[in-house]
Amino acid sequence: MDSRAAAHLLHEIVALLELQGEDPTVPAPYADAARALAANDPSPLAELLRRDRRRFAPEVVDVLEDLVDPGESTLLDQLRESTPEGLFEMLRVPGLGPSRIRRIHEGLGIDTLQELEAAARDGRLARLPRFGARTAEQVLRGIAWLKESGAQVLLPHGIAEATRMLAAIRRVGGVVRAEIAGTIRRHCETIREVEVVAACARDPEAVAAACARLPGVRDSVGSGTREVSIRFDDGMRLQLHCVPADEFVVSWFRATGSESHVREVAARAALRGLTLGERHLRRADGSAVELADEPALYAAIGLPWLAPELREGLGESAAAAEGTMPDLIALTDIRGVLHCHSQYSDGGATIAELAAEARRRGWSYLGVSDHSQSAFYAGGLTAESLARQHEEIDAINASFSDFRVLKGVEADILPCGRIDYPAEVLDRFDYVIASVHSRFGMNETQMTDRVLKALDDPHMAVLGHPTGRLLLTREPYAIDMDAVMARAGEAGVAIELNADPHRLDLDWRLCRSARRHGVRIEIGPDAHSVDGLENMALGIGMARKGWLAADDVINTRSADDVVAFATRRRLARAGA
Ligand SMILES: [Zn+2]
Ligand SMILES: [Zn+2]
Repeated sequence: MDSRAAAHLLHEIVALLELQGEDPTVPAPYADAARALAANDPSPLAELLRRDRRRFAPEVVDVLEDLVDPGESTLLDQLRESTPEGLFEMLRVPGLGPSRIRRIHEGLGIDTLQELEAAARDGRLARLPRFGARTAEQVLRGIAWLKESGAQVLLPHGIAEATRMLAAIRRVGGVVRAEIAGTIRRHCETIREVEVVAACARDPEAVAAACARLPGVRDSVGSGTREVSIRFDDGMRLQLHCVPADEFVVSWFRATGSESHVREVAARAALRGLTLGERHLRRADGSAVELADEPALYAAIGLPWLAPELREGLGESAAAAEGTMPDLIALTDIRGVLHCHSQYSDGGATIAELAAEARRRGWSYLGVSDHSQSAFYAGGLTAESLARQHEEIDAINASFSDFRVLKGVEADILPCGRIDYPAEVLDRFDYVIASVHSRFGMNETQMTDRVLKALDDPHMAVLGHPTGRLLLTREPYAIDMDAVMARAGEAGVAIELNADPHRLDLDWRLCRSARRHGVRIEIGPDAHSVDGLENMALGIGMARKGWLAADDVINTRSADDVVAFATRRRLARAGA
């Protein structure tokens, strides 16, 4: 088990202790430990315990030792055992902490989500001491949100869980091949469940049953069949398809989806006199086409293999058949990055550290884009600290012949539509990313006007994270993206595809219309640490999902080209 998974379980212990009405001093050490573990990068728990045992309270060490061996916590098991299932679910309703849930449970005898919803509607919840109508309303909204978002997780979390599950499944006797399918394979930004297809040498039902007994499994449905839904202790769900080896290719293709892509491909198969069944691709005489792998399946249907991230049923099979699918961008096309925060604002790394890592990754430039002065919450830079930063960048650049640090900024778009910093300060940057970081509650007209006005400023080279969404936590703000993309296309301002896993904003679904509007895309890691540069892989996946080619993306070009792109409007104005 790694430290991140342990932090997750410690959090659960804290919530359950609070739910049971323990004195606050009881959960406190677990809460401290959970925070400390979550703040650092995941590392193997056994190693961490060997190194840092003294940092934790004795009762926490007991739990952590349990989690290393046997891999589950007795305390957590006892707490779960003594807590009604419905109270767990209530913990996932935004705004409902353990102490409120306990008061609801004790005051109204409620222990399911349905009862809670009923009580919020009929006024019983509002009448509880210290609750009131507004809280009841908030609870209803929280329940609606929960139903909507389910138990979704962000893509990197899903990938980590899936990788762990896959490793365990591959060790199960009788499994000859197992692969991830579903939304993770399609690189979707949020994940509801992990889907795995396993090819079995012997009877698939027995393999499925063995998988349902893996460590960490809480419960499962569908035992005795080839399809099991498994729920793990940490809440993640696995949909497992166990199939005989000769059914693997078709099963994997179908489980990868999406449904509409599978329908499109099945329709093409029919045109060739083939039937795409649940398990096989069959000829008119009923015989199964032997398929070594997925590309063979597509080839049999007359299509080039389509990368999983494209399989959304949005015309990809037609484009592939006609040869009009763009040559998709790859991570190796990227020549540098522009959206990074250093210790000058809210980042954790120095400029030199970020530059060294970017260079190690084979990039030829890294742009530092710390926050501007209005972003006081994120340590935005005053004109004086900017001068210091630029001196530091000059010194670093003097030490390289094959790499360049660019002087950028992520400047706030103020509510009035002005870009933070006066023109003479903006003139000092190689490029300006401008983003909205405040007043998200404006209506659509106001917000659209605010951004359109900013786009008119010739300093602006890139519009950062254009809708402000935070996946699973904050909706995009109201903004007419069509109008914004049209204006950005005319003005020659790039729009960011922010690669932070919480954002992935511009939404991949809008990439094709950005392209139609002639808008260039900047893929930005929004790195706040050296590790944050890793976000680029996610951003590239989203760009591919949005059918982008290397040419559509400005940071596939050289540093000189990027600076020329970013400064040409202000130079044109100065020259006019
Ligand atoms: Zn930002
Ligand atoms: Zn940023």
